Amino acid sequence: KSKEIVENFNEELKKRNLTEQASCHITGCFGFCEKGPIVKVFPDDVFYTEVTEDDVDEIISSHLVEGQMVERLLYIDPKTREKIDTQNHMNFYRKQNRIALRNCGLIDPEKIEEYIANDGYMALAEIITTKEPIDVVDTLKASGLRGRGGGGYPTGSKWGMTLRSKGSEKYMICNADEGDPGAFMDRSILEGDPHSIIEAMAIGGFAIGANKGVVYIRAEYPLAIKRLKIAIEQAKEYNLLGKNILNSGFDFDLVIKYGAGAFVCGEETALIQSIEGHRGEPVSKPPYPSESGLFGKPTCVNNVETLANIPIIFQKGPEWYASIGTEFSKGTKVFALAGKINNVGLVEVPMGITLREIIYEIGGGIKGGHAFKAVQTGGPSGGCITEKDLDTPIDYESLSRIGSMMGSGGMIVMDEENCMVDIAKFYLDFTVEESCGKCTACRVGNKRLLEILNKITAGKGEPEDLDKLRILSETIKDTSLCGLGQTAPNPVLSTMKYFEEEYRAHIEDKR
Ligand code: SF4
Repeated sequence: KSKEIVENFNEELKKRNLTEQASCHITGCFGFCEKGPIVKVFPDDVFYTEVTEDDVDEIISSHLVEGQMVERLLYIDPKTREKIDTQNHMNFYRKQNRIALRNCGLIDPEKIEEYIANDGYMALAEIITTKEPIDVVDTLKASGLRGRGGGGYPTGSKWGMTLRSKGSEKYMICNADEGDPGAFMDRSILEGDPHSIIEAMAIGGFAIGANKGVVYIRAEYPLAIKRLKIAIEQAKEYNLLGKNILNSGFDFDLVIKYGAGAFVCGEETALIQSIEGHRGEPVSKPPYPSESGLFGKPTCVNNVETLANIPIIFQKGPEWYASIGTEFSKGTKVFALAGKINNVGLVEVPMGITLREIIYEIGGGIKGGHAFKAVQTGGPSGGCITEKDLDTPIDYESLSRIGSMMGSGGMIVMDEENCMVDIAKFYLDFTVEESCGKCTACRVGNKRLLEILNKITAGKGEPEDLDKLRILSETIKDTSLCGLGQTAPNPVLSTMKYFEEEYRAHIEDKR
């Protein structure tokens, strides 16, 4: 739809001899999926939502020619019924701080000139011409950036460990194997701002001493792959990748590898196995990839959102980044807001914001005026959070303290009509499907858990099934090899903790 709107605009501008005055460009995602397609007019900053091909003529005649906004295409605030004209005035954006998403919705991702015009590749140029690898690592450590793929490990420490590992050959890997149900943060960054990932990987390569990088990306992301390929070619033409990058003597090259659709390949050791051409199964750690990773060489694996933060940290300084967020979780986090919420979309918020602010201010509250019941963060590895914890400032530690986790950024809101046993079943069904089968606890245990849940929702459950669910869940968590198995029972345990009465109601056949 958006592509046709852009074509219509440019054809119409041509017909009217207005190509000198205006042009229309495709950008990455604005995040406000609920109200797309979006057309933003610069420099007026006017933000039109739910635009169709039929609206193009009116936007040109009224806005571009006569200077009058097209009122009927402005966003209407559901609470005040006011029409809002600019992005900054909208509640959806007001509390956001777009750092990782800074260029999404702003630049044409297929044009390196637009990335460069917005200070792109400045950090890389400065680093490779004036800094030592250890300075880069220290700056990243001072920023407080932690891995956004779920684990929250300090990124500077990871780079430092890989730098210290001995070896003339090392690798930088970008983990773009995003797989949580409902999550599309990494996809949007790659589609909207692929050069930021290339720049960050080259900075990482310089810092750890790697000349090769691999982006491991889901094959189901064709647009992200297309744009990344274009961006890599452009970076090579500009001597920003390849031999003697910017004539500095530092050489860094980048290749793309496609994931084959296995969720477990988002786990770094399984991902490395997959790149090497083996079956994508996790292997025991230690040794960690920083000592022995891809082809047995020291390797640093960072996820897309983590990398997207890096160039701007070096542009603006680690103190600037560390001033955003909470004591132990600096910066922002991108969440894919979905479920029973008015404003579905991609949001980037400072760490420390509360879930209530995200759900009721940015998200616009619960759809259809229903009552809030719970929100699931952390995808299939996370847990549900109830009303009593909505005012907790979110960061890595607080989310795990209230029984969930940050995860990669899935955030699914549930209302009073959702059955929480069905929710647990949904996530468990997913992990059973995605278990690689290597260890018995995960392969068989999760299947048995799912069988018990199916039995309960079919009205055939027995009171002792609740204890069975608890004991089996704890056993799976304690004995599985990788994060997938260790966290798979979390949705069951957390829904049982807060909504045991719903399990009992099924068992007593009241539903
Ligand atoms: Fe595979 Fe599950 Fe074991 Fe992980 S925990 S290695 S996904 S079987």
